[in-house]
Amino acid sequence: MKKLELVFIPLIAPTHLTSTIQFAKLLIQHDQTISSITFLIILLPNQTDIDQATKSVSASEPRIRFIIVPPPTTNPLSQISSPISVEMLAHIFIESHKSQIEQAVTDLVSDDSRKVIGFVLDMFCTSMIDVANKFNLPSYIMFTSNICFLGFLLHVHTRHTQLGVEFNKSDPDSVISTYRNPVPVDVLPNPVFEKIGGGYDAFVYHGTRFKETKGFIVNSFVELEPYAFNSISTPIPVYPVGPLLDHKKVNRTNGSNEVINWLDKQPPKSVIFLCFGSMGCFSEPQLEQMAIALEKSNQRFLWSVRKPPPDGVHVAPTDYTNVETVLPDGFLERVKERGMVCGWAPQVEVLAHGATKGFVTHCGWNSILEGLWHGVPMATWPLSAEQQLNAFLLVKELGLGVDLCMTYRSGGSGSELVMAGQIEKAINWLMDDENPVRNRVKEISEKSRKALKNGGSSFIALQKLAEDMLQNID
Ligand code: UDP
Repeated sequence: MKKLELVFIPLIAPTHLTSTIQFAKLLIQHDQTISSITFLIILLPNQTDIDQATKSVSASEPRIRFIIVPPPTTNPLSQISSPISVEMLAHIFIESHKSQIEQAVTDLVSDDSRKVIGFVLDMFCTSMIDVANKFNLPSYIMFTSNICFLGFLLHVHTRHTQLGVEFNKSDPDSVISTYRNPVPVDVLPNPVFEKIGGGYDAFVYHGTRFKETKGFIVNSFVELEPYAFNSISTPIPVYPVGPLLDHKKVNRTNGSNEVINWLDKQPPKSVIFLCFGSMGCFSEPQLEQMAIALEKSNQRFLWSVRKPPPDGVHVAPTDYTNVETVLPDGFLERVKERGMVCGWAPQVEVLAHGATKGFVTHCGWNSILEGLWHGVPMATWPLSAEQQLNAFLLVKELGLGVDLCMTYRSGGSGSELVMAGQIEKAINWLMDDENPVRNRVKEISEKSRKALKNGGSSFIALQKLAEDMLQNID
């Protein structure tokens, strides 16, 4: 009998790749009939290889392998001269690899010992549905965000078929099937407002292509988003199989040991942790307001502060060589008994640490799931992507977070200074033992762990997905 194989096409952005790999591991360990998973990797223009952590996945799970597809002969991005959104850039870049992917799949299917049974595509790699169709294979979407946001993207598509235009900042609240409450326009992601740059078009494109797929694999769990799960308006099955987290993440940087050693010395449940994801950074005036708030709050804190890239360059921030230069004079000295400022933080270890009591987050979906898993209540300070919507979800829809500045946006309008008073108030409320959010987060933390166990909701969704994948074989 032929070995059954799935082809995965992930987005190589680390936060998409991590949860997709976790899903692949779960699936292959769960269902013995699926004997292998091949990741076809499209490297970013500045990459030459996958990282060591990704390579090590194959060493511990040989049924998962990674094949790097060659780049197209001409770089499609070199021909773009007008301003363009990251979403459209990613779409054009992925799409330009169609023939390379097709060749790689041709090689795979020519192996008589294997039978490819489907494609699992990152939510932003939907153009590869065309390749799957050429091989008459079903496509499944790996949705690395939440069910609510999936509902939002489907809504964008439906709305586009009715109105045909992007959103406007003066629009009324949107009624979206996955949200219990009307959604204010100021928490919608930036791309949906774009007249130029193609962000809106990219969202519409993906929402349209979603309709051609056989299922949405979502990094969430039913107990977290019961309303969204039950009310999402799509005939396509939704499989919430999360939370898909990498608990063994090798996250050691030079300062990691120092951070954990410092936390070891703090009293249990006493520290507020401020960390803003892989792209998070602030202007010096904003850092000053944050420093004032932390100093006045009298809370113990661990604060990840990162250096912005030069203007207009879309690369990740870096660590400061001397962070003191961007903080108020004497700040570090004054707070040295109760505060630590670091660069890239070992976030998962910090959240798991007994001294951590609260988390100010940019609301990246992985960060939210990590906070919930470890039962650490969060205050929301979104920056970009779908983070404002995630903040709305956490605070208004689920009652699991404290609003700090839900409508903040990094760069452009909405990035006005958040003043120290507002920050201090949210921090103190987050750390207050009387805050009802604490108990709710504790409960959902237990539910998140249960969901993955044998018989839990995500376990059952995974089982159903595996059965459906086998049913959908031509
Ligand atoms: N992260 C970390 N240290 C940091 C910042 C981020 O370990 O200083 C990790 C965090 O644990 C999470 C990921 O990077 O797993 C960020 O993913 P998320 O989806 O929250 O946000 P994004 O980086 O995509 O904006």
